[in-house]
Formats: sequence, structure tokens, C-alpha cells
Amino acid sequence: MSRAVVAKDLVASQARALKMPGVVRALEALARQAHQEHWAYEEFLHEIFSAELASRLDSSIRQRLREARFPEMKTLDTFDFAATDGVVHAAQIADLARGEWITRHDNVIFAGPIGTGKTHLAIALGVEAARQRRRVLFVRAADVVRSLLEARDARELGRLQRRLYQVDLLVLDELGFVPFDRAGGELLFNLLTERYERRSVIVTTNLAFGEWVKVFAGDEKLTTALLDRLAHHATVIATKGKSYRMRKKGENQENETETRERVEPAQALPKSKRQA
Ligand code: ADP
Ligand code: MG
Repeated sequence: MSRAVVAKDLVASQARALKMPGVVRALEALARQAHQEHWAYEEFLHEIFSAELASRLDSSIRQRLREARFPEMKTLDTFDFAATDGVVHAAQIADLARGEWITRHDNVIFAGPIGTGKTHLAIALGVEAARQRRRVLFVRAADVVRSLLEARDARELGRLQRRLYQVDLLVLDELGFVPFDRAGGELLFNLLTERYERRSVIVTTNLAFGEWVKVFAGDEKLTTALLDRLAHHATVIATKGKSYRMRKKGENQENETETRERVEPAQALPKSKRQA
């Protein structure tokens, strides 16, 4: 075996011992290229370190995405802005995707009927935040309240509260689907109060603000205080209209019967249907 081959094997095993998987993967090709192109030692080292840095960035993003526990993968590039009756603007969402609001500890609220893309957008913004290596956690409101109640009964409330507090972005999905009892409502209230002006929240809800009190066991005072905090520094995006899947179904049927009628995707549904 030539000295170079022995050295390469040694470097590979040292890189493994040093936990540098990017180096292990890039070594062979970079060494070959360096020989062929007569790189300076510094140049070669720079390329090696760049490969390791890229690999670490990549795995930390994957780690963040795993920790976020998104129920499914949704991204902005698959979101059809033309199908939102003009209420969700690509520019606004692109701006939110940059995540400065998370640095400012602001909130985002998506409110609107079922199937109008609230969860899709919430996950997609969460994915963007995770790609910026922010800590994100996705929870359904009913699930997190149940977990909080269980943790309280098991005397482990503090630990769960810390975990929920620590993430940079908490996505609270489906607030309003299941009403909470008083204790549950208070635990959720405490969580949001704890995060207020310190960490960001995305809330998706099918309720208008006036209906939130129903979810919190009719407690007006608590609901008002909660809404105050949530909405204080919040971007509120109200979605409307028919569910996306229903639209698509309608569109397809339309395509079969009256193909010539179709123009813009935004106008895909006849006016009467869109207003329904
Ligand atoms: P909501 O949370 O408002 O009830 P979802 O975000 O779960 O609705 O949307 C239901 C389904 O329709 C999902 O599969 C979602 O990806 C899709 N969807 C909704 N709106 C859009 C849209 N404007 N563009 C692409 N897909 C959409
Ligand atoms: Mg949803």
C-alpha cells in the first residue's frame, strides 16, 4: 500500500473518532481533486472544513425538524396562494418565513374554516424556522392540554412546562376543536402567558375571536386576558371560503364539463360557489 493510501485510511478513521462525518464522506473525492489540481495545503483544508460545516448544518436542521414533531411535511412551495380567495398573500407569508417576528417574539394567528390551509401554513412556517435552526414544537391544542393535565397529576408539570417554554416557536394547532375544562384552560393560559413577549406562538383556530370564550369553559376574564396577550404582537391571517380539497374536486368536475370556461386559477370556482 502506498503511503498516501495508508494516510487516507488513517485520516478517515481519525475523522470518525473526531465525529466528523462530513470529512469522512468528502475525503476521497477532495483528496483526488487536490492532487489533480495541485491545491495548496490550506486550500485542501478549507474544502475539508467546509464539507464538515455543511454536513453539520444539514444534520442540525434535520434534528430540528425531527424535534418539531410535525404531523406531516408541508412546505411553502406546495402552497397554492391563488386558491385562498386573495386573503393569504405570498409576499406576506414570504416575509413571515424569514422569521424576524420570531426574533421579536411576536405571534401569528391563522383563523378560518376547515380545510383552508391554516395547518399547512403553520407547518410550513415552522419548517422555515427549523431550517433557520430555531427550536420548534408542533402540538395540537387538545393534546397539549391533556399532556399538561396528566403531567400535573403525575407531579411533573414543571418539567413539561419548561419544555414547552423553551422552544423558540410553539405551533398550537386546532384551538377550538375541543373545549377545555377550567383546569385545562388555565394550564393553557399559563403556558401562553409564560411565553408572552418572550417566545413566539403560531395558533390555528376555526373560531372567531368572539367565540374563544366557549373553549375556555365560559371564563370571560381568562379569555380576554389570553386574547390580549396573544394578539398584542400578532399577525392575524383570516382564511376563508371552501376547503381546498372541495375546491379541487369542484374544479376537476368543472374541467370535465366546461373546459373552455376556465381562465385564472384564482377564478377557478364560479362566483356563486366562492361566496358560499
Ligand atoms: P386547515 O388546517 O385550515 O383545516 P389544512 O391546512 O389542513 O386546513 O388543509 C387541508 C388540506 O388541503 C391539506 O392537505 C393542505 O395541504 C391542503 N391545502 C389547503 N389549502 C391549500 C392551498 N392553498 N394550497 C395547497 N394546499 C392546500
Ligand atoms: Mg388544521
